[in-house]
Amino acid sequence: MLPFAELHLHLEGTLEPEMVFELAERNRVALPWRDADDLRGRYSYGCLQDFLDLYYANMAVLRTEADFAELTDAYLARAARAGVVRAEVFCDLQAHTARGVPAPVVLSGVADALGRAEADHGVSAGLILTFLRHLPAEDAARSYAEAIATGVDLLGVGLCSSEIGFPAAPFADLYARARADGLHTVAHAGEEGGPDSVWEVLEHLRVERVDHGIRAMSDPELVRHLAERRIPLTVCPLSNVRLRAVGELSAHPLPAMLDAGLVACVNSDDPAYFGGYLDDNIAAVTDAFGLTPDQVATLARNSIEASFLPAADKQRLLSTVPA
Ligand SMILES: [Zn+2]
Repeated sequence: MLPFAELHLHLEGTLEPEMVFELAERNRVALPWRDADDLRGRYSYGCLQDFLDLYYANMAVLRTEADFAELTDAYLARAARAGVVRAEVFCDLQAHTARGVPAPVVLSGVADALGRAEADHGVSAGLILTFLRHLPAEDAARSYAEAIATGVDLLGVGLCSSEIGFPAAPFADLYARARADGLHTVAHAGEEGGPDSVWEVLEHLRVERVDHGIRAMSDPELVRHLAERRIPLTVCPLSNVRLRAVGELSAHPLPAMLDAGLVACVNSDDPAYFGGYLDDNIAAVTDAFGLTPDQVATLARNSIEASFLPAADKQRLLSTVPA
């Protein structure tokens, strides 16, 4: 099995319907659905907002530190079976504090599972605190301060949620602060928004990695810029199909991104909602595009290069991918 780094994964998006019901019972949360199958049957979305409505509704069952640890551990176990050896996972902290779950409950639970990831699952793991872009930058700054105050180790910061109508530039000061604190920086861009949205996070937030970025492909100058500087793009094919960012998988720009020499890698985004984990995404694109073993190995190499692992760890992992 090829070793992959998974770099675009929202922990909340790994909440499987069965776990929704299990946690709802344990935490006495009333659900509007009959059972897990009924809930799963609703996982077809007309647009991003349809998905977000369900995503936030299900989160109501996550209440305790143990819930967050179990959620994270279940993802790590599944990711390890998919070939993931490195996971840099997102936590949308604001979505939990906004509904009254304190930051230490969320982050300590997540950190507990991440701290055991190497020993329990053979996965090295890091945590990226993601800010919700549809909320004001002041809210994000408050969330950042709350996260730092927990003392939990952060690998980086990110920006996610609705892209259109919510510019990234107001988050520039917060990103500068995170950089000064020694954290890595990423941001979602070019999923709904066009190339300008990608330029914006590069210029204003100075991100090291772009999440999605598929719409960069319509701007040759941007493609050249990303390729020359080897700025990685964390691509999520099944997510793009489910959220209708592309019409169908065969129309996905992934092969063109590889042909352009971009450091594009494949990720699962919100696997419980979009039809599969990293291995399912790799299998789907391999099938849709008839990717050769060499091309799949390139995806594995790109994912490792795109990670925030120390150079020596990257070299060690890269040496295990067939040339
Ligand atoms: Zn995402």
